[in-house]
Amino acid sequence: MLQEDVFKKLVAHCKEYGFVFQSSEIYDGLSAVYDYAQNGVELKNNIKKYWWDSMILLHENIVGIDSAIFMHPTIWKASGHVDAFNDPLIDNKDSKKRYRADVLIEEQLAKYEDKIGKEIEKARKRFGETFDEKQFRETNGRVLEYQLKWDELQARFVKALNDSNLDELKQIIIDQEIVCPVSGTRNWTDVRQFNLMFSTEMGSTADGALKIYLRPETAQGIFVNYLNVQKTGRMKIPFGIAQIGKAFRNEIVARQFIFRMREFEQMELQFFVRPGTELEWFQKWKQTRMNWHQALGFGSDNYRFHEHDKLAHYANAAVDVEYRFPFGFKEVEGIHSRTDFDLSQHQQFSGKKITYFDPELNESYVPFVVETSIGVDRMFLQIMAASYAEEEIVSEDGKKDMRVVLRLPAPLAPVKLAVLPLMKKDGLAEKAREIIDDLKFDFNCQYDEKDSIGKRYRRQDAIGTPFCVTVDHQSMEDNTVTIRYRDTMLQDRVAIAELKNIIAGEVSMKKLFAKL
Ligand code: ATP
Repeated sequence: MLQEDVFKKLVAHCKEYGFVFQSSEIYDGLSAVYDYAQNGVELKNNIKKYWWDSMILLHENIVGIDSAIFMHPTIWKASGHVDAFNDPLIDNKDSKKRYRADVLIEEQLAKYEDKIGKEIEKARKRFGETFDEKQFRETNGRVLEYQLKWDELQARFVKALNDSNLDELKQIIIDQEIVCPVSGTRNWTDVRQFNLMFSTEMGSTADGALKIYLRPETAQGIFVNYLNVQKTGRMKIPFGIAQIGKAFRNEIVARQFIFRMREFEQMELQFFVRPGTELEWFQKWKQTRMNWHQALGFGSDNYRFHEHDKLAHYANAAVDVEYRFPFGFKEVEGIHSRTDFDLSQHQQFSGKKITYFDPELNESYVPFVVETSIGVDRMFLQIMAASYAEEEIVSEDGKKDMRVVLRLPAPLAPVKLAVLPLMKKDGLAEKAREIIDDLKFDFNCQYDEKDSIGKRYRRQDAIGTPFCVTVDHQSMEDNTVTIRYRDTMLQDRVAIAELKNIIAGEVSMKKLFAKL
């Protein structure tokens, strides 16, 4: 199946099975804003729990906070967001569509990478086992030509970004003959900077109203609480503050479903360290975060690190964790060494001393910060993309059939157990309810009595329920049920009394934490 088709199916699946809805749908929707539905919210909460517990429970020196979305406007001056939180945008005069100039150029780079990839795949098929990719890359004429184009474009692009040279970005787009995907023309406007922060007014009178911003990242809420937490929590460096919360960005190009939204949620850790040790901690967090991703079991080949070509004004090292989405490798998480930039800025703008007295060194300093920042929604999309599978199966009557199954890691699944009475009568429905009453405080359970058992299994597969339990006449006699496993579709006969243990072992977050 084509990767674009996979993505389309995934979006349709999210709607059909109650994971994600377009916001304000009955009013034709609001662009790049989405709502989480009955199953989506459970999955999202489980993702947040996996992250939160991996920070708070597994690290003695990390604590959490929940800061307000509205903050004093000077914070965004100090952080640099008022002056420098910009994207370079360009419009196509024919289609009137707006694009991020940097994204258009990145897509052009990806096209060269694709071309190289295709040559390599062709050659791999032709040469079979004897194929030596390294040698092919170094000697094949076409690959070398594309690689040269890539290298030249990349060097020019990085220089333009670092110099904030908007004219040069436009020139690159012209020289590369990049066309608007909608109009197909090269009729471009100049590149302009566009601030991504939403603003609103606080206060009742027009005169006294204060212009405030909806936070574009949760990090600043942590920085401005650094002193409070350090003192009241008696925290000793190195230590971290974690937070999960909404962030807002007026994204120019908002597409690819929940990959890029205007209202989204972040899970951020700011880890405060002694100056000079930040790059060591940066390496440590890079590995810790990659382990967290890979513990989900979606295959280590599908992840990679991407070093930043252009460092943000506050960073001395930065890397992204990328996942192989159906539309290519894309960022899921950013890890940044933010130096002492933020705390020093807040110290200067607020006039309050923000330092740490290090008893071991017997001196005070402004701590350095290593940040890990991941989008909940992007992680949600990554997990859905990695879990979605279509499989051919043989149905009960021997016919070939298809099933769509979400192979979600069991600890993240919205529903852990579905209890299905074979029929409503003969007390089977009551027996099924009894099982749910016994287990509902331990796991999210669902009762379903409608349609054939086969159809009910399909519905549960489609939302990723790891266990289905069927209550039949034998259950009334000997208190046993059949338990069916989502991934293998195998069935076992087990005592009802054993269910809690069997399920608990699989759905506990401990299963994931054991791999970290
Ligand atoms: P991008 O390059 O994709 O715009 P970014 O580098 O600006 O992302 P960061 O500021 O590092 O992103 O934010 C950290 C994380 O927050 C990202 O890795 C991503 O998972 C998430 N994120 C950022 N912007 C959005 C958005 N508009 N919608 C959904 N998630 C987002």
